[in-house]
Amino acid sequence: MNRKYRKTVIAGNWKMNKTPTQTKEFMTQLKAILPKGRWCDIALCVPAVCIPAAVRAVRETRIGIGAENCNPNPSGAYTGEIATDMLVDAGCKYVIIGHSERRAMGETDADVNAKVLAALEAGLTPIMCCGESLEQREADITNEWIAMQIKLGLQGVPEEKIRKVVIAYEPIWAIGTGKTATPEQAQEVCESIRAVVRKLYSSKNARAISILYGGSMNEKNAFELLAQPDIDGGLIGGASLVPEKFVQIIEAANQPTA
Ligand code: PEP
Repeated sequence: MNRKYRKTVIAGNWKMNKTPTQTKEFMTQLKAILPKGRWCDIALCVPAVCIPAAVRAVRETRIGIGAENCNPNPSGAYTGEIATDMLVDAGCKYVIIGHSERRAMGETDADVNAKVLAALEAGLTPIMCCGESLEQREADITNEWIAMQIKLGLQGVPEEKIRKVVIAYEPIWAIGTGKTATPEQAQEVCESIRAVVRKLYSSKNARAISILYGGSMNEKNAFELLAQPDIDGGLIGGASLVPEKFVQIIEAANQPTA
């Protein structure tokens, strides 16, 4: 982290977990134990049906609610889909885009790019995910692969909007597996992502963009991961479902930075 130049963001990804009733219960528990300080932005990206309950529950707190996906089209015949303006109207501030679980369902880099542009246009903060498979890591092509995902995902994002994008580096082999990238592995890739942003935009923008790590981050390993200079927060799946664990990760973000 480096709070001098960029935001620290601790974001939860609930995936397909919790009902609206459980959302309300979770938020009540979370608010009771949430640290008072203001050292990081907190986001909870929840299933679409939980958004109204989540938004109601976090009023007058510093928690921002997000969606887990969006459709890039403004409206129309897209049964089952949700447009970015709908998310904004429902009270969302964030949207996860390009999660590997959605890419596995067929989402392409072009889809990711269209969604990032639509999210920015609507005023949402896109949390754009990238990450390599175990095979790609073993073939030693991680940085090239991630650089390609970043370049394609950010195509057409204008300079004045790049700082609004949050990038989440999530090695696929570490998601939901209990296998975390070592702090050094995660730092290396996050640093290389920042270098890609530097090349595409500028040093100033690269220094200002928040890059998160995701992949089995939990209350035990968060401190060390967040101590890395280019890891500006976390995208957290499993551990974001338990208020005490999520709060401990938020507390790990309260450490001195460079
Ligand atoms: C995720 O879903 O983005 C994620 C990182 O999950 P987990 O923390 O459970 O590995």
